[in-house]
Amino acid sequence: MRMLIMGAPGAGKGTQAAALAQAHGVAAISTGDIFRANIRNATELGLKVKALIDAGEYVPDDVTEAIVADRLAEPDCSSGFLLDGFPRTMHQVHFLDRYLSQRRQHLDAVVSLLVEPDVLVARLLDRAAKEGRTDDNEDTIRRRMEVYAGQTAPLLFHYERQGLLVEVEGSGTVEEVRQRMLEAVAARKA
Ligand code: ADP
Repeated sequence: MRMLIMGAPGAGKGTQAAALAQAHGVAAISTGDIFRANIRNATELGLKVKALIDAGEYVPDDVTEAIVADRLAEPDCSSGFLLDGFPRTMHQVHFLDRYLSQRRQHLDAVVSLLVEPDVLVARLLDRAAKEGRTDDNEDTIRRRMEVYAGQTAPLLFHYERQGLLVEVEGSGTVEEVRQRMLEAVAARKA
């Protein structure tokens, strides 16, 4: 299975990505986690992307695409993967389409987690208080929402046209969303 999980900031992608990847026995790859690990370890990449991420802006496509290409080349991705937080721009969509078609591979499903804007902001502010992510403050959250709406939400049409989109209502408890999502993905395959 080769899958994507998409959703606005606060939609619960990271949490549900772990469950979806585990259920299908594939690696979950989060570009946000890769960037945060690099920032924590003060790598060259981390230093390059920290200011952008803290401002709620996207990392440049060429940088992000190179990281994803490296990660997908690891042996644990040979039988499948779940990308969380990639692609986020049309450029990245085309990059991924090309990457897969060159390897005679294709996506099997694109999960979209749907959550009301008010719930998203409440969840992010709650996470800010608990986890202290430097991009979870009010100004940055607002900017991340805008960038998502402008650059990433339109990508869902691309995957809908390809018949890959699996829309999942993302409100409710983690466990409720998990079950709903796993059933929706299974129903699409059947
Ligand atoms: P969120 O919970 O806001 O969806 P992520 O952990 O997925 O957060 O990503 C955090 C930040 O990392 C993003 O706001 C963005 O700055 C950067 N980032 C992650 N993935 C990408 C990507 N595919 N392209 C560009 N920037 C990205």
